[in-house]
Amino acid sequence: MITIKNLNYKYKTGEFALSDINLEIKGNEFVTIIGKNGSGKSTFSKLLSGLVKFKNGEIKIDNLDLSNKKQELDIRKNIAIVFQNPENQIIFDKVYDDIAFGLKNLGFSKDEIETRIDESLKQVNMLEFKDSYTTELSLGQKQRIAIASSLAINPKVLILDEPTSMLDPSSKKQVYEILKTLKESGITIIYITNFIDEILLGDRTIIFENGKIKKDFYKKDLLSNLEYLKDFDFPGIVSLISRLHSFGINIELEDLSIQELTLKLGELKK
Ligand code: ADP
Ligand code: MG
Repeated sequence: MITIKNLNYKYKTGEFALSDINLEIKGNEFVTIIGKNGSGKSTFSKLLSGLVKFKNGEIKIDNLDLSNKKQELDIRKNIAIVFQNPENQIIFDKVYDDIAFGLKNLGFSKDEIETRIDESLKQVNMLEFKDSYTTELSLGQKQRIAIASSLAINPKVLILDEPTSMLDPSSKKQVYEILKTLKESGITIIYITNFIDEILLGDRTIIFENGKIKKDFYKKDLLSNLEYLKDFDFPGIVSLISRLHSFGINIELEDLSIQELTLKLGELKK
């Protein structure tokens, strides 16, 4: 569904931020991307979302060619991105107006806009805030509105660039729940993170290092790839998995979410 070939990117100043990225992502895959600061994750997300144009290489999403200017509108209708800081994504004073803005820009009819706003607010559990002032919302709620704005366009691909890094633990969990439900809707999710435990949200993890793909593996193969994750802070669940693994206890990772894994580990500890 997503095909990336020989993608290279250099900002006007500095070295190559991305070099020789080759990647295939299937429809409805939930891919997490992890890498240290400066490894090129955000650059990748900006290229993949169509926000930043590139000359060197190719990104195709089904029949969309991201370097084709004529497909600009279709690109915006099919790929959405959520950033780290919700404060920078919300423009309007009212929740309704904020979501409506993007939809109006894409030329949807009034009725269609109404329906899409309701649907997307339901998806993030914020329908009751439809007429609220955005200034009265918590950071976590604002981030859910930013996600709703993205979902309202009904994209094929949703990219999230460290969406929980500014959120408190309970807001993080709400975002995880939304993603879990979304995955069932058939959307393709690219989730960029700094938190190693969040790689368990997805089906597949790609590790970026110095603008390159260092490793790409499916969650079921996590245990045999733990060495690649040692460079990251190893809090919580992944360090537990690693300890259990070193004791010879293996866990079936394929279908596990963070919450399910926590439960399993609780059982094991008994
Ligand atoms: P990450 O999101 O993994 O922290 P980035 O994609 O932000 O990484 O950065 C990759 C590289 O590109 C870094 O070396 C960074 O300094 C550089 N970079 C990022 N944004 C810009 C910019 N606007 N101008 C010049 N260099 C940039
Ligand atoms: Mg970044």
